[in-house]
This record gives sequence, C-alpha cells and structure tokens, in this order.
Amino acid sequence: MMRRRIAAALAALAAFATCTFAQGQPQPDKLPPLPLFDAHMHYNVEARSLLSPQQVIALWRKAGIRAVLATSRPNDGTLDLIAQHAPDITIVPFLRPYRVQPDRYDWFSNSGVEALVEKELQRGIYRGIGEFHIFGADADAPYVAKIARLARERGLWLHAHADADAVERILRHAPGVKLIWAHTGMTTPLDKVEQMFAQHPTIVGELSYRSDVEQDGALSPRWKQLMLRYPSRFVVGTDTWITPRWGQVEEMAAFYRRMLSALPRDVAERIAYRNGMELFDVK
Ligand SMILES: [Zn+2]
Repeated sequence: MMRRRIAAALAALAAFATCTFAQGQPQPDKLPPLPLFDAHMHYNVEARSLLSPQQVIALWRKAGIRAVLATSRPNDGTLDLIAQHAPDITIVPFLRPYRVQPDRYDWFSNSGVEALVEKELQRGIYRGIGEFHIFGADADAPYVAKIARLARERGLWLHAHADADAVERILRHAPGVKLIWAHTGMTTPLDKVEQMFAQHPTIVGELSYRSDVEQDGALSPRWKQLMLRYPSRFVVGTDTWITPRWGQVEEMAAFYRRMLSALPRDVAERIAYRNGMELFDVK
C-alpha cells in the first residue's frame, strides 16, 4: 500500500517536473515557425498575368514571409506590390536594370538600360540595384564600374548574380560597396566563399539555389560551420525568376526552416529574417 502511494507520488512529481520543464524551456518543435525575410524574389511580367498583387501578399502571409527584397522585370511589378500597402508585409524595393528578359545578357553595355536606370533612380524609392547577372571580365565594363560607384556614393546595395571573379572585380571598382551575392555564387567552393567573406565585410550571401546547403536531408556540416562563423552574413530567398517557382514558395519556406533548425535559435532567426531587417533598417 505504502509502496503504491510512493510510486503515485513519484509519478505525480515526475509529471510536474516535465510540465515545469516544458513551460520554462520550450522544445524546438514548440517554437513558433521562423518568420522569413525573402531577400530574392521577382514579380515579373509573366507572373503578374497569373497572380494578382493581392494573391502574392496572401501567399507570403501563408508562408510566414514578413518582408521581401523585391526586384521585378519590369520594375512595375515591385511598384504594384508597394501599392498594396499591406501593413504586415515590408517591401524593400530594388531597381532591376532589365526591361525584358534578354537584357540580362548585355545590360552592362546597353544604352537603353542606362536610360531606364537613370529614369528609375529619380523615383528615389530604391534601396539597391539588381538583381543583375554578371560574370568574369564582363564586370570590368565601364557601366558596371559606374553602377558600383554610384551605389557606394548613394548608400545603395547591389544584388549580383555573379561568379566570385565578377564580385571581386565589382569590389575593386568600388571598395566597400554593399553587395547581396545572389545564390552565394551558386557553385562557388565554400573555401572560396569563406575567403571572400573574410576579405570583404560588405558581402552578404543569399542562399537560393545553393543546393549543397542540404546534405542527407539536413543542413550540411560545412554550411553549418560557415553560418556559425558568419551569422550576420546570410539571408534566404525564393528566387521566383520563373512563374512555376511561385507554386513552390511555401515549400521553400519550409525547406529553409528545416535547414535552419540545425542552428541555435538566435542564429536561425538571424538568417531567416533578422539580418534582412537590420540591413535595410526595417523595424
Ligand atoms: Zn533571381
């Protein structure tokens, strides 16, 4: 009898302890889902014919995306999103130097693009220029140097889909210019990425299409090491560059949350959204 009563008391105590522990220290799976800052999205003309700005905002809400770095071809897509005045979604507009898709191949030597950029800059709303594509020695084109210096002078960011070589050339034109490195080079070896981060403190790596982030279904150990070493230097992105990517936004949000769950919560929060918020002074 006595033994049974002691056993019951112990069970009650254990239940109480578990309960107290659970209240004091929330388990990772009980934490609210990480909000996201999508630092690479395009609301291009092709997507606009299928998805209204209201539908885009609703999708972001559903996916837990609280802020976006918007860069659309043409820029009207970004202006449409801003015009929604969604109180819970912050839109950080970037000036995309493309009128039509083929501009990505020769924007740096195209007087029509130059005129577009000049005109768009007069709006005074953009926080950066990009995403633009640039590889190797093309980054030495006079117009690339001009844009890099203009960005540095005006405190604008660049958003470059570029190889390491082109990023280094841009930084030689305008040392200290702030640069979001789209896809963190996509396939640039991580030792090179690490060397560039160490050498150039104004580079921030955006993670879309960096498929080696995942290894055996979880964050790769090498990536984990890099993120722990540079917790304030990474941002996530969906890169809705083609319309089907819009159908994968929720899946991509879940992917980032799954990868980032391998990191301490404060680092995960940084990469998921705090870095983006801080870079662009979003409150
Ligand atoms: Zn893109």
